[in-house]
Amino acid sequence: MPPTRAEIRAKLLAGAEQAIDELLDWTDHTPRPNLTQIENAVLKLRRQLSEQAAQAVIEAQAAQQPVPGPLCPTCQREMHYKDTKAQTVESRVGHLRIARGYYYCEQCRQSIFPPR
Ligand SMILES: [Zn+2]
Repeated sequence: MPPTRAEIRAKLLAGAEQAIDELLDWTDHTPRPNLTQIENAVLKLRRQLSEQAAQAVIEAQAAQQPVPGPLCPTCQREMHYKDTKAQTVESRVGHLRIARGYYYCEQCRQSIFPPR
């Protein structure tokens, strides 16, 4: 069952709080950071928030299995839901660990893992 808006929101807030606490811990232990160090710390925070947000949106989307399934890129027949598998994707917002359904074409014996 797809997560509710309130569940997604709570998860994102918890993740954001943790990332902010890490930044504040860093400031406590780094009394006089230079601009490069501050940039690195803030970019790390931004990356964490971006990854969490993208992950949350993808997980909510993945919980909804499309009916009918996607079309096979080779024979254009409907592909069928096979299983859920995890994959790490390098995206523009960072590393994403995506667990989602993949689809299989019995005819061509190939599977796809949307979105690509
Ligand atoms: Zn096919």
